[in-house]
Amino acid sequence: MSELRQLECYIDGQFVSSEHYFDNVSPVNGEVIGQIAEADHQQIDRAVKAAKTAQTGEWSRLSVNQRCDLLHRVADRMVERQQEFIDAEIADTGKSLHQVQTIDIPRGAANFRAFADMARHHSGETFITETPTGDKALNYSVNKPLGVVAVISPWNLPLLLATWKVAPALACGNCVILKPSEETSSTAYLLAQVMDEVGIPKGVFNLILGRGKNVGDAITCHPQVDAVTFTGASATGQHIMKAVADTVKPISFELGGKNSAVVFADADLEKAIAGVARSTFTNCGQVCLCTEKVFVHRSIADEFIDGLKKSAQAIKIGYPKEQDVFIGPLVSKPHQQKVLSYYQLAKDQGAEFIYGGGVPPFDDERAQGCYIEPTIITGLGDDNRVNQEEIFGPICHVSIFDDEQEVIERVNNTQYGLACALWTENLSRAHRVAPQIDVGLVWVNTWFLRDLRAPFGGVKLSGIGREGGQHSLSFYSEPVNICIKI
Ligand code: NAD
Repeated sequence: MSELRQLECYIDGQFVSSEHYFDNVSPVNGEVIGQIAEADHQQIDRAVKAAKTAQTGEWSRLSVNQRCDLLHRVADRMVERQQEFIDAEIADTGKSLHQVQTIDIPRGAANFRAFADMARHHSGETFITETPTGDKALNYSVNKPLGVVAVISPWNLPLLLATWKVAPALACGNCVILKPSEETSSTAYLLAQVMDEVGIPKGVFNLILGRGKNVGDAITCHPQVDAVTFTGASATGQHIMKAVADTVKPISFELGGKNSAVVFADADLEKAIAGVARSTFTNCGQVCLCTEKVFVHRSIADEFIDGLKKSAQAIKIGYPKEQDVFIGPLVSKPHQQKVLSYYQLAKDQGAEFIYGGGVPPFDDERAQGCYIEPTIITGLGDDNRVNQEEIFGPICHVSIFDDEQEVIERVNNTQYGLACALWTENLSRAHRVAPQIDVGLVWVNTWFLRDLRAPFGGVKLSGIGREGGQHSLSFYSEPVNICIKI
């Protein structure tokens, strides 16, 4: 972005200025690229009240098909303005152009189409009930929206993860308060413009900008917010859970992970190396599903480690729009400091560094950015903090295992339970092992291959509930059972 962009909140169908703004800083070179509004409590209250009013207004009178047609218009307009979305996402995150072009933005638009189409066919249940006295009754359920849904989203896949929740919430007839991460508010702002342009009725979609502690808290605690759907760190999820306890709001939590990849002796080694390199280093390791622990069978360990090191060496780090760049910087200085602190911890604990461990030696403006080297380490125990805590950077620890049952136990030795990738050519093994891993998602011979209809979510510290397909429609609507005596 060449000129400074000022991002405003969007409340009750209008962009509104705020009293306070904070800097939007480029992770590529540390330059200030814009100003972001910090909503105050009055604005939050106004947004929630607007959403509450809209809930029973024009929005509720639209048929499901009319509502879903409008959501298709949102997707169409996002595609028309695709280049602006791409530029904004890159400016905020420093991600590679290839990733933003192939994943973040197209999947953001696809969320609106997919959930709109699913919602058209969302139906209730019907039962004919026989009573002990021989009478009959008809039980049927109708799906109603929850009301005002707060969507709180993180910075790692900003547009994709915000729309993953905004789209089904709107498709089910709710009104939405979106609070994107303060690190990455630009594509959410463009989304608000799109909502405005295609004629989503005022108050149905509201954008509240600002920092988590002030603004996030005020939204989740608001008595007229009916449900909270959150993607972010487990510690924030714990905080939100306490905050919503008094009002007993439904919650859906997609939280942190400490994900493993297991490379069995019978894996196709070439595919496994490429797959683990992708699952470790994609988006600079900043995907909740990324691999941070690799377990490789002793018989192939040397060859695997050698291959993974070559893959890491081949990664091009650079400007997001430079040709063939695979990873850009981490999202921010504080996050770079956090990841580097784990590199240091690994050194202090005696880890062997197979590759990386520092900051790439740029001698230009990127030295002020948040770049970091892809890193492979080994030699630490399973219970070491480095192998237990989510780092959220481009690093994996490689351990050796000997036996299937042993590796299942070691993979499950974590407080998290989001995802796991198994690499094996033995189908029976894949079917046998996959259900024994305590996670919400297991991939076999692939990673991050998603079907929007499939259940998505984690167990343990990785989350509560499932979204995707019917699971999203269920979360974002409330079935009312109607029983009629026949
Ligand atoms: P974060 O928890 O710091 O922030 C997420 C969002 O919550 C932001 O919008 C933030 O402003 C807001 N927030 C912060 N404090 C809040 C509070 N007290 N009340 C309400 N809202 C508050 O997370 P992050 O650093 O933006 O994202 C990275 C984390 O997200 C990682 O742990 C990652 O694993 C996780 N994540 C999980 C999934 C998943 O699907 N399970 C997907 C992506 C990211």
